[in-house]
Amino acid sequence: MTTRIDGHTILIGLMAYPIRHSMSPTMHNSAFEKLDLNYAYLAFEITNDELPNAIEAIRTLDMRGSNVSMPNKQKVIPLLDKLDPAAELVGAVNTIVNDNGVLTGYTTDGTGFMKSLEDENLDIRGEKMVLTGAGGAGTAIAIQAALDGVKEISIFNQKDSLWENAQRNVAIINEKTNCKATLFDLSDQDTFKNEIADGLIYCDSTGVGMKPLEDLSLVNDPSWFRKDMIVYDTVYAPRTTKLMKVAETAGVKHVFNGLGMMLEQGAEAFKLWTGEDMPTDYIRDLLFSE
Ligand code: NAD
Repeated sequence: MTTRIDGHTILIGLMAYPIRHSMSPTMHNSAFEKLDLNYAYLAFEITNDELPNAIEAIRTLDMRGSNVSMPNKQKVIPLLDKLDPAAELVGAVNTIVNDNGVLTGYTTDGTGFMKSLEDENLDIRGEKMVLTGAGGAGTAIAIQAALDGVKEISIFNQKDSLWENAQRNVAIINEKTNCKATLFDLSDQDTFKNEIADGLIYCDSTGVGMKPLEDLSLVNDPSWFRKDMIVYDTVYAPRTTKLMKVAETAGVKHVFNGLGMMLEQGAEAFKLWTGEDMPTDYIRDLLFSE
């Protein structure tokens, strides 16, 4: 690894807190090495308070860019020069590109989600999606799906601090895209069941199914699912969540965890920085095989 770093190596960062657990450094550095690209990707623990100096350092150090994760995805926006239209609608940035000191913010979580379905030869454009969650992941997924031509999105959220964000997402989708979005209270279980029965894809972006909620799922009755639908959990640790087990019991054909989204959001950022396609099959085998 170190042998390929020299005086010309271009730096890319990841600015978040906490971040030491992230798979992104291994993913990007393995891809740089595989393609013989002279870049290095390093994680930096950066809090909101440290963010202005860290973003200025991208310019000072002539870094090619950075990923940004929690708690900095929204706070970074006023520190940038430009925003990609999808990032503007989502209201969050996870990727920064530095073009000669001009910093542009992108969001690749939503495009990564859509690309991960494309990788499985699944097309949800023109179809109905049911989505639980309206936080960082849910917002990016809903807005990108709507921009890409999903016909209808039924969003379910509990009445917590993210409810207002869910209202905002629905308003933006209905105003700015051709998709029809509706918000429902997750406690309305009859409607939740009926909407799932009416959709092609159910996606859970809440993090239920991940520690400390690894024994839980928002859908527990396999009869809510049809065999011909798609069930997608954005959680990737554990690899098989409770929701996925319920879907598998129902005989659902297309059941996914969040690894495909994780891989493809990285690949989208990789392309923005380097202009090259990430060798995703190689990275999938290297990092994501059981
Ligand atoms: P967030 O905190 O921004 O949003 C969480 C959402 O879940 C909110 O809508 C909240 O109302 C809802 N929620 C929380 N607890 C709930 C509960 N007990 N019951 C019902 N709803 C509940 O979080 P986020 O950043 O959007 O992340 C959510 C999940 O998505 C996490 O598991 C994260 O690992 C995953 N994620 C995956 C990828 C990927 O690439 N696969 C990318 C980003 C996030």
